[in-house]
Amino acid sequence: KNVMEAQNVKLSYGKYEALHGITLKFPAQKLTALIGPSGCGKSTFLRCLNRMNDDIDNIKISGKILLEDKDIYHTHLDLVSLRKKVGMVFQQPTPFPFSVFDNVAYGLRVAGVKDKTVIEQRVEESLKQAAIWEETKDNLQRNAQEFSGGQQQRICIARALAVRPEVVLLDEPTSALDPISSAEIEETLMGLKKKYTFIMVTHNLQQASRVSDQVAFLMNGELIESGSTEAMFLAP
Ligand code: ADP
Ligand code: ADP
Repeated sequence: KNVMEAQNVKLSYGKYEALHGITLKFPAQKLTALIGPSGCGKSTFLRCLNRMNDDIDNIKISGKILLEDKDIYHTHLDLVSLRKKVGMVFQQPTPFPFSVFDNVAYGLRVAGVKDKTVIEQRVEESLKQAAIWEETKDNLQRNAQEFSGGQQQRICIARALAVRPEVVLLDEPTSALDPISSAEIEETLMGLKKKYTFIMVTHNLQQASRVSDQVAFLMNGELIESGSTEAMFLAP
């Protein structure tokens, strides 16, 4: 079963066409790695999947992006509802400058969840899923930006998971981290595949071969090759 699907997605920044027509399916409960050289359009493509590009001047996007068979650019789905279904984790850990608790509760509050008990349960659940509960449970009111880089990135992962999204987009989530934090986050993502569908940009081929189930290789705004990670990385 596919959770998301891109059909002939083209994107231009002004006159410059950065994506030339990408068609790709994202199977449920798998991790898809988007790989390719710097500047090939990985991040641009990823950002289309939860409409993070919309506000850029002179941007033009065509084709279709389906989430559970509905076109995210041409439905009633507003951005708040879309981002409840499609979460995002960035390269630099970007916790907001307030407490761990309020960071993780952020998406729930934006989504209109008011029940304090529900929010508390979800915050705990998400911090546990992101494997950062033990390190934060006694410090939930501490400013999230006071934690280490790896811890901050886990808090950001918990923030993305708190709304129980269908899909989590990750834009080079470990490339700003030390090797140990990076390996721990890989481990965490692999353990969460039973619950979520991940789409991850990485420039690290070894990382893609370790954590992904499907690989899509982009070059100059085109999808050059895609397939199972096994087929892409193991010699025939
Ligand atoms: P990657 O993530 O693979 O490194 P990007 O998606 O960031 O590639 O960039 C793809 C191309 O689009 C690059 O040539 C980049 O310079 C260009 N680009 C990215 N963002 C913008 C923007 N906001 N305005 C104009 N050009 C952009
Ligand atoms: P944009 O101009 O990219 O649409 P938003 O107002 O939606 O920005 O979001 C503002 C900031 O909130 C983003 O720059 C990003 O740091 C963060 N953000 C946006 N979407 C998400 C998400 N799904 N999960 C977590 N943080 C998000």
